Amino acid sequence: MIILITGGAGYIGSQVNKELNKLGYKTIVVDNLINGHIELVKWGTFINLDLMEKKELIELFKAKKIDAVMHFAAFAYVGESVLEPKKYYLNNVVGTLNLLEAMLSAGVDKIIFSSTCAIYGNPVYTPMDEDHPKEPINPYGRSKLAVEHILEDFSRAYGLKYVSLRYFNVAGADFEGEVGEWHEPETHLIPNILDAAIGVKPYVEVFGTDYETEDGTCIRDYIHVVDLAKAHIDALEYLFEHESSDVFNLGTGKGCSVMEVIEAVKRITGKDFKVKLSDRRPGDPPILVAKAEKAKQILGWAPKHGLDEIIETAWRWHRRLRGLC
Ligand code: UDP
Repeated sequence: MIILITGGAGYIGSQVNKELNKLGYKTIVVDNLINGHIELVKWGTFINLDLMEKKELIELFKAKKIDAVMHFAAFAYVGESVLEPKKYYLNNVVGTLNLLEAMLSAGVDKIIFSSTCAIYGNPVYTPMDEDHPKEPINPYGRSKLAVEHILEDFSRAYGLKYVSLRYFNVAGADFEGEVGEWHEPETHLIPNILDAAIGVKPYVEVFGTDYETEDGTCIRDYIHVVDLAKAHIDALEYLFEHESSDVFNLGTGKGCSVMEVIEAVKRITGKDFKVKLSDRRPGDPPILVAKAEKAKQILGWAPKHGLDEIIETAWRWHRRLRGLC
């Protein structure tokens, strides 16, 4: 079976590429390497291609016998999406339309889409299930929601089968240390804390201490990237076994505050570092926690790794990334 992975040189795509190859699937990784890293493509065939290059995409689908697509390629910086919405709608929405057109032209009818809890916007209730109102508060979230709508419409009109996976806060690294998180610039909480623990950054900043949570800092649902990758395999099997499409939250159902994550990093790494209390970052909802029962019931998927394993694996990976071991 041949699976095409767009964005397979990125953090999540590279982990899924590893899992697919472990299971005997053949993979073709398509990435423009704008945010991806060729060093993370350790399995399968690599093709340097941008999803805006529709003609080349159509030719690729004509030339290879692809059984299904895993679609990760997207821009994903919330702040940047507010400043440059055109860039986000072009890459995330038009790029996906090109991909879908190429798939349909070759009769490929199965796609797993990398969606996000950002499509829900500010929580109306928590934990959030898949039926939670969808009012994204930034262009990034809106671009992902637009793709979810496109998939729904294409499914109805053209028989496309899809699974949209709405990720909560993905973190951690591969247990064998082969792939992991590598963003430039890095904006995410856990790698930023690890940079403070290593000493690459003078402190870690806490964005907001006056939220209506127990310790005043934001609560997020951190899910291990290896668990997340496994959910993609389950979703792929679902597509091969069923005639239907569906959407699933991927989270643990358990929230941790920014302060709790910082304390856990100090405990696990044995390092002390400066913590700077700062103002809120615009656009951050106070609490984002998944109700993830649906993925359990329908896909038979359940996360196995908690916050400690997230930090342990990320710590090993991150020190290597920073050239420390
Ligand atoms: N955060 C923080 N300091 C940082 C980075 C993030 O306090 O250096 C907070 C951020 O405000 C949010 C949480 O940590 O409440 C998770 O942020 P991240 O950017 O990792 O993921 P997001 O929830 O924005 O997808």
